[in-house]
Amino acid sequence: MNIRLFKPSLGEEELQAIKEAFDRSWVGLGPKVNEFEQEWAKFTGSEVAIALNSATAALHLALACFGFPEGKKVLVPSLTFSATASAILYNRLIPVFVDSDPVTLGISTEDLDRKYDKDCVAVMPVHYAGHPVQMELLMPWAQERGLKVIEDCAHTAGANYKAKMLGTWGDIGCYSFEEKKLMTTGDGGMMVTNDPELFKDVKAMRWVGIDKDNWKTAQEYTHANRDALHWFYELNVLGYKYNMNDLAASIGLVQFKKLPHFNQRRSEIIRLYLNRLKNIKGIEPLLPFEPENYPYQMFGIRTDNRDGLMIYLKNKGIATGCHYTPLSLQPLFKPWGNNCPYIEKEANRFITLPLHADLSNEEVEYIVDTLIHWNK
Ligand SMILES: *Cc1c(COP(=O)(O)O)cnc(C)c1O
Repeated sequence: MNIRLFKPSLGEEELQAIKEAFDRSWVGLGPKVNEFEQEWAKFTGSEVAIALNSATAALHLALACFGFPEGKKVLVPSLTFSATASAILYNRLIPVFVDSDPVTLGISTEDLDRKYDKDCVAVMPVHYAGHPVQMELLMPWAQERGLKVIEDCAHTAGANYKAKMLGTWGDIGCYSFEEKKLMTTGDGGMMVTNDPELFKDVKAMRWVGIDKDNWKTAQEYTHANRDALHWFYELNVLGYKYNMNDLAASIGLVQFKKLPHFNQRRSEIIRLYLNRLKNIKGIEPLLPFEPENYPYQMFGIRTDNRDGLMIYLKNKGIATGCHYTPLSLQPLFKPWGNNCPYIEKEANRFITLPLHADLSNEEVEYIVDTLIHWNK
């Protein structure tokens, strides 16, 4: 047995889509990126979606959209991937780490109240593992304080929470198509908003400062607009090289069609895990999983002998992980950390178990049987 923790589900259709990009000889920022953006905007019910080379880039630009003065503070959960908090430092802002809700592991509303002060300008809820943060409570809380809300949706895609897509509750939502996520483009990300004015500079910011479709320019070069100054562009904002390219978008458009099937399969696997884990002493599910309501990017458990069990599972050919070491304990973030007592301790009990759309029922049975055996 050799069971992977995460695995992208890729097939012939993706290969074919890449081949078509080759045949067009357009593999950079081009029409497929636009098409993917339009699909994603429709899918999430957003006015605008902009595709990037990662969610890390999306989070960086999302904060940059607001032009906050240097040194202002941003509230961020300690239990997240590095990128959520790195985006704050990229923008020369100060991360304020917030503890987790013990049940949902989302950003704690009590700790938010404790950590908030008038230098705070934004809050970045993370739908950890795909479990929704209680946005119906967070949004009014943030609005009363004039805080902008950026949702880190790296672990979710297409989740309807109280009749509204996750990623559209806040001002901006950021999705990831990194290879471990719900669907992949190799690397990639998307940012969405329902306030187009907010994104007026994002196309330039993601592409070296130029807000122009160069594939259209190339098309028009030889025929249309003979007198147009096609070589002219203006640099008005500081841009990065953060664009998605047509190769990634080609894969993304195929994966997007498969996403409902992937999400359904992940939910089935979680249901199987939950049923079989019910009666194992000393092991509890990581979260109050609701696989019939939301897609999840991760499945996991909590247990006291975390390290012992992880090594045991490794010897049985089962890959596991810990998501995450709380950022408030990481050397990089320590100057602002050591202030989330619940999650800094509790995360030592977390084990992430294999979850991906190609995982078979037999593999899940084997994992659960191995857990039962260890427990005896
Ligand atoms: C993966 C991840 C990111 C970053 O995504 P990339 O596309 O790899 O840059 C951000 N936040 C969370 C919570 C993640 O899991």
